[in-house]
Amino acid sequence: MPDCIFCKIVAKQIPASIVYEDDDVLAFKDIHPAAPVHLLLIPKVHIATLSQATASQVDVLGKLLALAPKLAAEHGCAVTIDEAGVPHGGFKTLINSGPDGGQEVYHLHLHVYGGPKPWRGLAS
Ligand code: AMP
Ligand code: ZN
Repeated sequence: MPDCIFCKIVAKQIPASIVYEDDDVLAFKDIHPAAPVHLLLIPKVHIATLSQATASQVDVLGKLLALAPKLAAEHGCAVTIDEAGVPHGGFKTLINSGPDGGQEVYHLHLHVYGGPKPWRGLAS
């Protein structure tokens, strides 16, 4: 997709602060962070929105979801549960889809937000 900014990041045609890469997925820091930790996790293959994802792409969608807590933990946002069963820490995941869903970049991406709250523009 020649005009897709995230495809250009995948192709290393424009720079990004990359925090993870493998054959299928790429993760980098959001250029306008809305939280102390704000990462974007994307499939390397161009998928415009979640509504355009096909059944053959469930593996890469699963990889994105499984990667989110690992990268959150690497950035200090793990969820831990103490001996009393009380949870601590945490992060928020978000996929905006389509204009009514607030999507601005039409290459599927999973936001991971974390760090001390409150965060600009994010509910709860
Ligand atoms: P969304 O509204 O879900 O489509 O979010 C798009 C996100 O991409 C926004 O949070 C932008 O700040 C972020 N973004 C746009 N361009 C870049 C870029 N070149 N590098 C990193 N993040 C970007
Ligand atoms: Zn793309």
